[in-house]
Amino acid sequence: GQARTLEAVRDDFPLIREWGGVYLDSAATSQKPESVIAALSEHYRTRNANVHRGAYRLSSEATAAYEGARSSVARLLGVEASESLIFTRGTTESINLVAHAWGLNHLEAGDEILVTELEHHSNLVPWHLVAGYRSARVVGVRLLPDGRLDLEDYRDKLGSGRVRMVALTHISNALGTVNPVAEMARMAHEVGAKVLVDGAQAVPHLPVNLSTLGADFYAFSGHKMLGPSGIGGLWGRPELLGALPPFMGGGEMIREVFVDHSSYAGLPHRFEAGTPAIEAAVALGVAAEYLMNLGPERIWQHDRALVSYALERISRIEGIESYGPVGEDRAGVLSFNLRGVHAHDVASMLDERGIMVRSGHHCAQPTWRRLGTVGSVRASFYLYNTPQDVDRLIAALEEVRDFFGEHGL
Ligand code: PMP
Repeated sequence: GQARTLEAVRDDFPLIREWGGVYLDSAATSQKPESVIAALSEHYRTRNANVHRGAYRLSSEATAAYEGARSSVARLLGVEASESLIFTRGTTESINLVAHAWGLNHLEAGDEILVTELEHHSNLVPWHLVAGYRSARVVGVRLLPDGRLDLEDYRDKLGSGRVRMVALTHISNALGTVNPVAEMARMAHEVGAKVLVDGAQAVPHLPVNLSTLGADFYAFSGHKMLGPSGIGGLWGRPELLGALPPFMGGGEMIREVFVDHSSYAGLPHRFEAGTPAIEAAVALGVAAEYLMNLGPERIWQHDRALVSYALERISRIEGIESYGPVGEDRAGVLSFNLRGVHAHDVASMLDERGIMVRSGHHCAQPTWRRLGTVGSVRASFYLYNTPQDVDRLIAALEEVRDFFGEHGL
C-alpha cells in the first residue's frame, strides 16, 4: 500500500490527538498508538493464560502470541536467531543481567570495564556494583565540549591491556549524540573486550541491525519505542549468551530441579525466570510491527529534520546555551539552558504554556559534570511531532526569556 503521511500517523495516538498540549518528552517515554493500546486489552479478552505451561488451547494461544512478539522484535532488530532475544523489564534490567551473569563470572581483580561520560546511570551503577564484588575498576571515556566522545582517549584507555568490557550508549538521552558504535566495537574487539550497547534511545529512532552492528550485547526498553512499560529486551550473541549462567532463578528457566541443585534451560528461557509480562510483550510485538510498517529510516529522517530546525531556531534566541553535537550524529534531542535561570523554572513556565519538556540531569550526572553544569531543559522529538510543535516551543521560550529579561536576571 501507499506509505502513510506523518500527519496521518499523528491521529493514531489518542493522547497526542486529544490532550492539546505539545508533548516533547519522548526520550523519557513515548506515547502509544491505538493498535498497541488495543493489543493489551485484546490479550486479556481473548487469550489470557500463563505461557509455556498449559496443555490446553488457551495457553498455547497465549504462548504463540508471546513467542510471535519475540519474532517481531527480532525482525525489527535484524536478529536471525530469535532465541538470542530475551524479554526483560527494560534496559535497566538487561544491563543488570549482563553485568551480573557475565561480569561476576568473567571479571578478575584489576580488570577494567570501560564506560563513557555520556552514559545513563543505568549503564554505570550496575557496573559499579559488579566491579565492587570483583575488585574490578570502572573507567570512563572522556566527553568533549561539543558533546562527542574523545576517540583518542578511548584508544588510549583501550590500550591499558585490562579492559574486558566496553559498555556504551548508542545514543545519549541527555545530548542526542549518536556514538560511532560500529567503529568503537571493532576497536574493543581488537583488544579482546566484549561490547554492551545501551540501545534505549536508538531502537525507537534509528534503523538498528544487530547482525552487522558489532555489539555482543544490546539492551532496550519497550516504553520508549511505542510499547508498554515493564517490558524490554536484551539481545546477545548466541554463543556468548548461551554460555552464561542465569541471572535470576525460578520457574520456567530450569531443566531439572532437585532439593540441593538444579540445571538450567537453554535460550531464551534460561533468562526469563518467573511469569513474564505476557500482555506487555504481545503489545511490544505490535509496536515493533508498527515501527517496521512506517520504516525506521523514515522515522530517523523525520526526527533529524525536526531537531535541525529546532537547533536553527533556538540558536537565534539570545541567552540560550545549547548542548550536543551539530551534524549527522545528532538524534532528536534538544538540550539547553536559559542563562541564569534554573532548568526547572524554564520547564514549569513552558508547562504553563502547554509545552511538556523534561528538566534536570536526565540520569546522566557525569555528562553534566564534564560540561560544567548540573543539567538542562530537554525537548525530545518523535514521529508524532511536527514543525508546528517546534514553533510553539520557540514562541513559548521567547516569552520565558522576555519574562526573566524584564525582571533583570
Ligand atoms: N539508557 C538510556 C540511554 C535511557 O535513555 C534510559 C531511559 N531514560 C535508560 C537507559 C533506562 O531505561 P529504563 O528506565 O527503561 O530501564
